[in-house]
Amino acid sequence: MTGVAQRVAELSEAQTLGMAQRVRELRAAGKPILSLLLGEPDFPVPEPIRAAAIAAIQEGHAPYPPVPGIAPLREAIASYYHRTYGVPCSVEWVVVSNGSKQAIFNALFSLIEPGEEVIVPAPYWVSYLPLVHLAQGKPIIVPTTQAEGYKLTPEKLARYLSPRTKALILCSPSNPTGSCYTRPELEALAEVLSAYPQVWVISDEIYELIRYEGQHVSPAQIPSLAERTVICNGFSKAFAMPGWRLGYALAPPKLAAAMAKVQGQTSSGANLIAQKAALAGLQSDLTQLLAPMLQAFRERRDYIYTYLKAYLPQTEPYLPEGAFYFLLNVSSFLGKVTPTGEIIADADVLTEYLLIHGVALVSGTAFGAPQHLRLSYAVSLNEIKAGLPRMVEALRALV
Ligand code: PLP
Repeated sequence: MTGVAQRVAELSEAQTLGMAQRVRELRAAGKPILSLLLGEPDFPVPEPIRAAAIAAIQEGHAPYPPVPGIAPLREAIASYYHRTYGVPCSVEWVVVSNGSKQAIFNALFSLIEPGEEVIVPAPYWVSYLPLVHLAQGKPIIVPTTQAEGYKLTPEKLARYLSPRTKALILCSPSNPTGSCYTRPELEALAEVLSAYPQVWVISDEIYELIRYEGQHVSPAQIPSLAERTVICNGFSKAFAMPGWRLGYALAPPKLAAAMAKVQGQTSSGANLIAQKAALAGLQSDLTQLLAPMLQAFRERRDYIYTYLKAYLPQTEPYLPEGAFYFLLNVSSFLGKVTPTGEIIADADVLTEYLLIHGVALVSGTAFGAPQHLRLSYAVSLNEIKAGLPRMVEALRALV
């Protein structure tokens, strides 16, 4: 008897963090490891953001921030979404949180009655299922295929919707696939949802600014979804400040107020220094601010794609349109045997085998993609160039 409540005892731990610990241990033991694990950009926090944080500290005042965020930041976020995407929102729509993960939690916790269903297309980001569980919802996983661009089709959505459905989680650009919904695709989903007015769309747009092809489209831009979409976004990725823990949600005011209530009783307003810093980020010329990072990501993406097509075509790499991940199909390696006689029973075993051979990737199991591995290219091109041949060599040694 541990005394730990069932809802927490059943909760899975973040697999990526466990792997990161293994990498640290192996490196400490002197083994060179190329880590293609983590979802954090390998770039410094942009200068205007750092300067604003320092200025905020120098002001010397550190009161409790308002629960939904400081007014100038909320205004800047609403104005950004309105200006950029025409989303019909205002300051009352914005709740600033300690990271976008908290924004997703606030949304689910505010919307879901016990047992209500939440549709989650797979592959999905690792935290969606645990967050739905914590909100006492029931995740309904809808598999998608590479041929579908790993996107939910209207036919599948129609098949999985029911009177018990309360929300649909979409992630575009996607972690782990890098695929992005187009406007016609979202319109087709909206058409299906029109018969289910009780269903909310929780739209995870954390990679919105990391795009290589086309323009980001939010479900909130589709008129019939505008009043029932919660946008969750944040500063961890494009602004390279995951450690400053700042995210936000945009939701119709009644829901936004409920979400702020949840946050007010759990963590209160987000870190004041980070809020002032993020405001400077949003007020900068974003194209200029993001150009170096986007160029580096694009170069790596193109290099890896060409490399995999040439040396590991069986992994069927999907060319990501956004974010900084590849999802690799490793089904042709499952069931094979290592030079030391071990059977590669599943993607988890394959991940361990590759780790011992110097390359760390995340098994797709936690992403609802058990035949896949996720490769993050948030590491320098030089490291990628040095590390990928190790992966090819290790995979070719399997018989
Ligand atoms: N959503 C997705 C798809 C992510 O990949 C991540 C972070 O990896 C988050 C949300 C959470 O980001 P934050 O640092 O803002 O909590």
